Amino acid sequence: MSKLCLILFGPPGSGKGTQAKLLRTSLGVAHISTGDILREAVASGSELGQELDVLLRAGSLVSDDLVNRLVADRTAQPDCEKGFILDGYPRTVAQAELLGKVLAEQGIDPVVVHLQVDYNVIIARLSERRQCPTCGALYSVTTNASEVCDYDGSKLIVRSDDNADTVRERLKAYERQTAPVLAFLKGAGYVCFDVEGASGSPVVIAGRIKRSVSGELARRAGRPA
Ligand code: ADP
Repeated sequence: MSKLCLILFGPPGSGKGTQAKLLRTSLGVAHISTGDILREAVASGSELGQELDVLLRAGSLVSDDLVNRLVADRTAQPDCEKGFILDGYPRTVAQAELLGKVLAEQGIDPVVVHLQVDYNVIIARLSERRQCPTCGALYSVTTNASEVCDYDGSKLIVRSDDNADTVRERLKAYERQTAPVLAFLKGAGYVCFDVEGASGSPVVIAGRIKRSVSGELARRAGRPA
């Protein structure tokens, strides 16, 4: 059986990162977040990291060429042997085209999950979001008033791009550059599930995703659905 590639697609703040962290354990595959990879580069303070910091703070996308290379390196790591969840990639049609070629070469047929969340919900969620700078765990101040991470005790931070102005720019970049990717993925013939991602806790939404994809994954594994 070929590797699993699950593409989690949706606007910023639709819960891709949260869902990927829940699903990677149950599916036994790696989680690849281009946002996390880019933020690690920023945190390293390298020259590249400083250039990326400017783009991320503005809510603009990073160049396709750089992101494509980062993803190619990451998918070659040993923890991707059984497969991987892509969170935040592909984010442009050019990235999707390249990904399509790379996956076809490896005989991988991706499954796409489209998380549907209304923009008003997104704006509210992002203004309440806190993140652990050490392990990347995500929190909401409305459901968890703690100021430190449950896993490693680090002081939680507000992401530099979660302020109202940058969120507006991220949503514009999504509309302009990323939303067309969904039609491209469907046009490429990939199986795509629309999943309601606004109502219910993260665990409830993860259950909805698992129920959506389970039949398809069982079929691929030759098991009864
Ligand atoms: P969100 O999906 O909530 O916007 P991410 O952590 O996925 O958050 O991305 C944060 C920022 O990283 C994006 O606003 C963009 O600047 C950059 N980024 C992430 N993934 C990509 C990508 N595939 N292509 C270009 N830029 C990206």
